[in-house]
Amino acid sequence: MRIIAKVGTSILTAGSDRLDLEAMSRIVGQVVRLRGEGHQVALVSSGALAAGRHRLARHLSAGKEPSRQAYASVGQSHLMQSWDELFDWHDVVVAQVLLTRRDLSDRLGYLNARNTLRDLLEAGTVPIINENDAVALDQLLATRIGENDSLSAYVANLLDADLLVMLTDVDGLYDRDPRLYPDATLLTKVDRIDAAIEAAAGGTQGVGTGGMITKLTAARMATHGGADVIITNGREAEALIVAATARDRGTRFTASESKLESRKRWILGSMTRSGAIVVDEGAVAALRRKGRSLLPAGISSVDGVFERGESVEVRGPGAERLAVGISNYNSMELERIRGQRSDRIADTLGYSYGDEAIHRDNLVLL
Ligand code: GLU
Repeated sequence: MRIIAKVGTSILTAGSDRLDLEAMSRIVGQVVRLRGEGHQVALVSSGALAAGRHRLARHLSAGKEPSRQAYASVGQSHLMQSWDELFDWHDVVVAQVLLTRRDLSDRLGYLNARNTLRDLLEAGTVPIINENDAVALDQLLATRIGENDSLSAYVANLLDADLLVMLTDVDGLYDRDPRLYPDATLLTKVDRIDAAIEAAAGGTQGVGTGGMITKLTAARMATHGGADVIITNGREAEALIVAATARDRGTRFTASESKLESRKRWILGSMTRSGAIVVDEGAVAALRRKGRSLLPAGISSVDGVFERGESVEVRGPGAERLAVGISNYNSMELERIRGQRSDRIADTLGYSYGDEAIHRDNLVLL
């Protein structure tokens, strides 16, 4: 199973004003165990801002308040260093990935982020993702995502995750605000996020940037992408393990669409009419019967002009429509590497975006 764990500031600081290594190491222990059981895990980690504030506090002169960006830049390196050291005890390698809204909204950025994250998981690392706060300047310019609930949903979709676990400082979603109504009850399973559920989420709560409303929005996005989502109290022992295995704690939102359907919609929805890739019989068999990626070796010709990251049609030798997929190379590059073995790509082009012309994860058979 592919799991995204979103860890909020309140968990990483254990409610204090600095990173709490003990709390972090409990997360690390759980991630390591899940990996041991064969799962892939990526973390979406907040805490940069809090760590930066704490670190800079005693170096500031009166009246000088650094920007949020400055705090986050200071804190991000400290945050990563802490994760790195804690995972290193278990001999697990971590990788830092900082994303901005732009990387996720533009087609090429999306493809690049998707490829990198997938590579990192396949290489056995634990990717640790945060927003690139240093360059995500202004919410008004819509360049910022702003909080990691949404970021974690984007990441779940980027990675076609099976499960997104949001570890926070409340037990989950209640039917009414539990701070105001002591008899509020925890909703354990939500199949559809409708107006009644939104009303239950009410205003924001907790010390992090997000609140129940942003969590619901994120849950909607991720469940549409085919992932189950669990909001649970990260302070409870083994919260992540319980969420990933028993799934009986916190609030669980069930995937509203299959991953395949969601991917299909995305790939077909962005299809360009400006070009197509024509493949030989061998490639037809590999795609159709074996569900393989399309390699340059199987390409016999390239029609029209398209960019890397565009969704293009794949046709068989008789011009029959076989598939639609997101091309890792633009049409000019494919023209140069078609018919070649993948280990020749770098020699021919001087660089390589990977062995596949279209990775099977980015391919929809018609
Ligand atoms: N990117 C922010 C940080 O690392 C966290 C945003 C959030 O709290 O959701 O501090």
